[in-house]
Amino acid sequence: MSNGPVIGIDLGTTNSVVAVADKNGARVLSDEAGSLIPSVVSFHPSGDVLVGANAKERRLLDAQNTVYSVKRLIGRPYTSYEVNQARERFAFELSEGPSGGVLVTARGETYTLSEISAFVLRHVRKVAETQLGVECGQAVVTVPANFNELQRSATKAAGRVAGLEVLRILNEPTAAALAYGYNKTSNERVAVYDLGGGTFDITILQLAGDVFEVLATAGDTFLGGDDVDSAIADHMAGQFLEQSRYDTRQDRQAYERLKAAAEWAKIQLSDKPHVKLCIEELAYGDGGKALNLDYALTREQLEHMCQPLVARSFDVCEDAMKAAGLRPTQLDNVILVGGSTRIPLLQRMVAEYFGRKPLADIDPDLVVAQGAALQALSLAAPARKAALGRVALKKVAQPTTGSHPQMTEEMSFEDEVTNVGERPPLPPPPVARAARKATLPGQAPPPPPVELKNAPQLPEEEELVDTPTRSREDPLEHEMTRVAAPADPLDFQPTRMADASGLLMQIGVPSEDESEPPLGEEEPSGLLMELGDDAFTSESVPVEGSPPPPPPLELRSSAPAELRAALDENVDTVTAAVPVTDVPTRAPLLLDVTPLSLGVETVDGYCEHIIRRNSAIPAGQTKMFTTARDGQETVVVRICQGEDRHIGGNQLLGEVVLDGLRPATRGKVQIAVRFMIDADGTLQVRAQDVGTGQQQQIAIKLIGELPEQEIEGLRERHEAKLGS
Ligand code: AMP
Repeated sequence: MSNGPVIGIDLGTTNSVVAVADKNGARVLSDEAGSLIPSVVSFHPSGDVLVGANAKERRLLDAQNTVYSVKRLIGRPYTSYEVNQARERFAFELSEGPSGGVLVTARGETYTLSEISAFVLRHVRKVAETQLGVECGQAVVTVPANFNELQRSATKAAGRVAGLEVLRILNEPTAAALAYGYNKTSNERVAVYDLGGGTFDITILQLAGDVFEVLATAGDTFLGGDDVDSAIADHMAGQFLEQSRYDTRQDRQAYERLKAAAEWAKIQLSDKPHVKLCIEELAYGDGGKALNLDYALTREQLEHMCQPLVARSFDVCEDAMKAAGLRPTQLDNVILVGGSTRIPLLQRMVAEYFGRKPLADIDPDLVVAQGAALQALSLAAPARKAALGRVALKKVAQPTTGSHPQMTEEMSFEDEVTNVGERPPLPPPPVARAARKATLPGQAPPPPPVELKNAPQLPEEEELVDTPTRSREDPLEHEMTRVAAPADPLDFQPTRMADASGLLMQIGVPSEDESEPPLGEEEPSGLLMELGDDAFTSESVPVEGSPPPPPPLELRSSAPAELRAALDENVDTVTAAVPVTDVPTRAPLLLDVTPLSLGVETVDGYCEHIIRRNSAIPAGQTKMFTTARDGQETVVVRICQGEDRHIGGNQLLGEVVLDGLRPATRGKVQIAVRFMIDADGTLQVRAQDVGTGQQQQIAIKLIGELPEQEIEGLRERHEAKLGS
C-alpha cells in the first residue's frame, strides 16, 4: 500500500471515530458495523484480540476479559481516587504497574492502559486503510481538553504502540470548533459543551475567519454517560435485591449486564417517554431457579437521576466562563459534542444556562473526528507551511506602565484581558493579535507598542524564546522581566523547595497565603525575578535606583518547533497574514491553551505555579531558584499539575533530578527552571545553572510513563498478537 493521508482519530471513552479530510472537507470512515467503533477490547479464549463491535458483544459474556472505558483511567496513578472507584465497578482486573500506573490483567497476561488503547487505535487505523486502500501511518488524535500531562503522554504512547506517528494531540472541543467553523468567514464566540461517556469539557473559543482561538477551557475527567448508566444500574440492582434477595452489586458479571441494559434504556429514553425491559436469568436463586428482572423506567425518572450529574457540568462551565471573562449569555453559539448530549434534559438545561438553544445541525458523535481530520490535513506539508506563515513574531519595547518600569519582549500569542460582565469587542483580524496588550479594569490603555522592524537574530541554533503567558487569570504573568529586584536577593525570606536529596530556594516565592493578584494589581515589587526574556533581549531598560538587572541568560532551550521553524525562515515581524497559494484548502490556525496550571513543590507541601492554566500554548516560563545548603550538588524537583496551592491537591507528574551542581555556599548557585509546553500541550522541563551556563536538566520522568524501549517491545507484542 502507498503512503496515505494523515487521519484524524477521536479516541473516545465509549466509541472511537476515524475521519480523513481533503480539499472538499472531512469524511468519516466506517466499517461494516458503522462509523462509531466501540472502544472495547476483548481477549478471546482462542487467543484472538477482538476490538470494536465484536468485542462489545463479548462484554456481556466475558466481562472479566473485556476491557472498556479505559480512557477514564489512562494516565492516572494506580492510587488515584478514580482508579479506586473503577476497581469497584469494572469486572476486569486492575493492578499497579512498576512505575505507579495501572495494568489490566486478562487471560493471565497484563497490559498497560496505553496498550489497550493501542489495540483500539490499530483497529481504527485498519478501518481507515481498508476504506482508503492506502497505508495510514500518521494521525492526529484527540483528547479531552482537561487531560493532564500524564494522560496526554499515555495517549501518545498508545499511538506509538499502535505503530502510528501521532503528529498532534488535539483537544476534542477545539477539534469540534474547527469542524464547525472550517471554511466559514464568521466572527463569533462559541462554547463547545462536550459530554461523552466518561469525560466532560467546556471550551470557549473565538472564531475569526480561519483563526480558532481558545479563550478558556475547563473540565471534569470523571463525569459522563457512564455515570448515568451506573445510576440506572444501581436503581435496577436495588429493585432486583428487593424482589429476589440477590445483590447483583456483588456479582460482577450480573452487574455488567445491568449496566449494558441501563445504557440501552437511557438511549431509548432520549426518544421515548418510557421503556420496559426484561433481563432473563440475571441470577440463580434457590434450587438453581432462574431469576429475571422486569424493569420499567420513564423519562421523568431518568431525568430525576440525571439532573445532579448534568448540574455538576455547570459548575465546570462557570469556571470556564470566569476564566474567559464572559457571561454565558455573551456567547454567539453553543455546540454540543459527545453522545450524552443527546439527552433531552441536558439540552434543555444547556439552553437555559446559555440563554440560547444549542446548534442542532452538528452530529455530536462525529464532529470531533472531523475536526481532527481537518487539523491533520493542515499538518500535511504544504498546509503546515501556510500555518507558519501566519505566525506573528514581534519584539515590542513596552514603555513604563504603572509604577514598574519594564521592558517586555514578546513573541506572538499575546492576548488581551477582557472585563468580566462587559461584552468584549470581537478580536481584531488575526494578524493584529500579537500586538494586543492587557488592558486592565480602570487602567488607561498602554501607549502603542514600539515595533522593531526586524525580528531579533537568534545567536545560536538553540536560543531561549519565551512565549509570554496570556493567562486571563493573571494578566501580568506575561510581563516577563521584572527588574526591580533588591541588591541581594538573599535578603528575602526564601521558600525552600521540598525535595529528597537537597533543597532549592526560590528567590521570592510568594507567601503561603498569597492568592492570585486581582486584575490590575501588580505583584509586590522586587519579589520576583523572572529572567525568561533576557536571552531574547538585545537591550534592556535600566531602572533608576534599582540594581542592574541580572545578566542575560544564555539558556539553551527548545523554542516551540513552529516558531523556530519560522525563525529559521527569517520571518520578520509579520504584519499581515501570508498569502498562500500552494495549499489545497485554507489552513486553520489553532491557538489553544493549557487546561491546568503547572508548578513545582516547595517546602511544607506547597505548590509554586510556573505556568498558569488557560495560558496560550506553546508557552514557556522560567523561574529562578537557588540552592539552600552549602555544597549542595543535587536537587530533586517535584512537578505537579493542578490549581491547588498544596501539592496534595494537585496531580504529581514526576520529578526532575538536577545533579552535578558546582559546589558552592548556600544561595550562590542560581538555577533557572524553565517549563515549556508545546502545541500538543506536552511539557518539557529544563534547568540551568545560571552561573556556568551549564544545562543540568534531564528528561522529566512521568509517573506511569512507559520507558522508550518498553514501547518498542509492546509494539512488537501487539503486532505479533494481531498478526499485522
Ligand atoms: P462518546 O464518548 O461521545 O462516544 O459518548 C458516549 C456516551 O454517549 C455513552 O455514555 C452513551 O451511552 C451516550 N449516548 C449515546 N447515544 C445516546 C443517546 N441517544 N442518548 C443518551 N446518551 C447517549
